[in-house]
Amino acid sequence: MRRWMVAGNWKMHTTIGEAETISKAIKEGTKDIDKGEIVLAPPYTALYAVHKVIKDSHIALAAQNMYFQDKGAYTGEVSPIMLKDTGCAYVIVGHSERRKYFYEKDEEINEKVKKVLSTGLKPIVCVGETESEREKGITEFVVGMQVKKALFGVTDMEHIVIAYEPVWAIGTGKNATPMEAETVHRFIRHIIGDVYGDSVAQNLQILYGGSVTPDNIGALIAMEDIDGALVGGASLKAESFTGIIRKVAEKR
Ligand code: PEP
Repeated sequence: MRRWMVAGNWKMHTTIGEAETISKAIKEGTKDIDKGEIVLAPPYTALYAVHKVIKDSHIALAAQNMYFQDKGAYTGEVSPIMLKDTGCAYVIVGHSERRKYFYEKDEEINEKVKKVLSTGLKPIVCVGETESEREKGITEFVVGMQVKKALFGVTDMEHIVIAYEPVWAIGTGKNATPMEAETVHRFIRHIIGDVYGDSVAQNLQILYGGSVTPDNIGALIAMEDIDGALVGGASLKAESFTGIIRKVAEKR
């Protein structure tokens, strides 16, 4: 059985003090949960503060992005070595907001995935179609290309997590139905199976992301190929994030 994961993406929210308060409350509210993986992705400025709160606990730290060089004259960028040094275990790569606002392309995402892995961190690779792509009936084509391009040349599949996040469901309150999400998750597992073999595909964690709340997670996590959630808005309140984690832990 695959392990579940619930990851909170705090985006460009929280001061250091707010991040400490939320992470302490999440740690306290989930301290009896001893299976699965809980991951917090605060902004860069709060990473080390949150690391100090959650170190030696059942919660892991993630960054929301990084640059694919170790160091150098790249003003404003942060390297995976620096992220490892702050206590990160994961890095979110290729989030749709980075694709949309910062023009990240699949080739750059692939460089990042490889760099994250070679640094000894684990990427949470985000893929997902826009509303117009879904309306045109090309969801699987788009998601399939994103997955293949992000993982081009990657052999170390054991440390990869994929998050299927339909762009039209992120921050909109419109989430994919459990069956819509399951169909794409199953498709992703199928193409991973074609490239890497069935046992790699069966062990791959695939998260759903897009307006997940404590009210809708139960039906999503009941799906066979949904292994957890990448949560934005609802991860900023300890009560709702803890509620999502509890529902996942109950069902898995
Ligand atoms: C996200 O940012 O990855 C996300 C899924 O956001 P939200 O849960 O707010 O839709």
